[in-house]
Amino acid sequence: MQFDVTKADLSTAISTRCEEMDQRHGRRIRSQNVKTRAALAEAGVDVLGLSVGADLPWLCGYEAMPLERLTMLVVPVDGDAELVVPALEASRVTERPSIFGVRPWGETEDPCALVAERIPDGATVSISNQTWSQFLLRLQNIVPSASFEPASRVVGPLRARKDDAEIESLARASAAVDRIAKRLQNGEIALIGRRERDVASEMARQIREEGHQRVNFTIVASGPNAASPHHDAGDRVIQPDEVVLCDWGGTMNDEHGVGYCSDITRCVFTGTIPDEFNALYDVLFTAQAAGVAAAQIGATCASVDAATRSVITEGGYGDYFIHRTGHGIGVEAHEDPYIVEGNETPISVGHAFSVEPGIYVPGRFGARLEDIVVATAAGPRSLNMADHSLVSVTA
Ligand code: ZN
Ligand code: ZN
Repeated sequence: MQFDVTKADLSTAISTRCEEMDQRHGRRIRSQNVKTRAALAEAGVDVLGLSVGADLPWLCGYEAMPLERLTMLVVPVDGDAELVVPALEASRVTERPSIFGVRPWGETEDPCALVAERIPDGATVSISNQTWSQFLLRLQNIVPSASFEPASRVVGPLRARKDDAEIESLARASAAVDRIAKRLQNGEIALIGRRERDVASEMARQIREEGHQRVNFTIVASGPNAASPHHDAGDRVIQPDEVVLCDWGGTMNDEHGVGYCSDITRCVFTGTIPDEFNALYDVLFTAQAAGVAAAQIGATCASVDAATRSVITEGGYGDYFIHRTGHGIGVEAHEDPYIVEGNETPISVGHAFSVEPGIYVPGRFGARLEDIVVATAAGPRSLNMADHSLVSVTA
């Protein structure tokens, strides 16, 4: 057998290998890019401009630093995308799969002028919702003939429908917070005699230890504080014989460094549960299960809200359910689709959202039960599997 490998063959082989790697790592990013271009064309948008916020990492894996220097990915509906980025941050970009060009700007350049050069006269421009107003105002000033709109109109529905890899990322993050729920319910996280804020810190530490890169929130609301849905964990010392409502979540990176969120709520009771509270929790439990069951393909977001709300209303607690049933979740903790009355968006395959009804009796107590649910052709799939019952803990 004779080996006749030239240097040229080797270099071809190596570059093919590099392309394969690039393709594997960048496959999803490329597919997001293709989907986005198609959606821009359909919506009649000429240019998409993405700055700080979650749209940019969702599309390309790169997250803009939320500082006073402008970072903006400019995506024309047909043509090459280019990332206008501060020169001192350009090296953060270069290891990314190359689906766009990079235009670093120096300290004395005007980055808005660079973006404006890429906006044709009279163009419709979609700008990511969290872009700082100082940049948008300046762009409007430089290109007065362009009309600007929030990017959520085009990008929101795309981000709302998760592909298989994104669902797996959400499932991994959900499994991580489920393990913390288990420790809360079996008494491994001590409650009685501790301040809410100390329990919240412990939960935050566990969120990181369970593989999240970021802690988004840790609500620990005890006794009457549980009647405040977004209570800030404070100095109140947790007492025996009361409810403790815990709602926690974080962001866990996938293999491309794009973060996906977790979000779960469980309540425990520090003692023997009184009949009155058991009755309330039974209604909540039934309402949450009804909401999950209603999350069928083709049903509207509003109908999922109605499913939880009708159980709570029939149970006599209608006036105490003071928020929508849920929110979409993905690269952001709250995103489309919102599970709220009036949202007639039909649920479709890949929609991921929370189902989290709550009952809040001011001055007395409250309870909420929350899972993340993904809509699939085979029916709703709950990503959180931690015990849904009201567990009594004695620690
Ligand atoms: Zn939550
Ligand atoms: Zn939530």
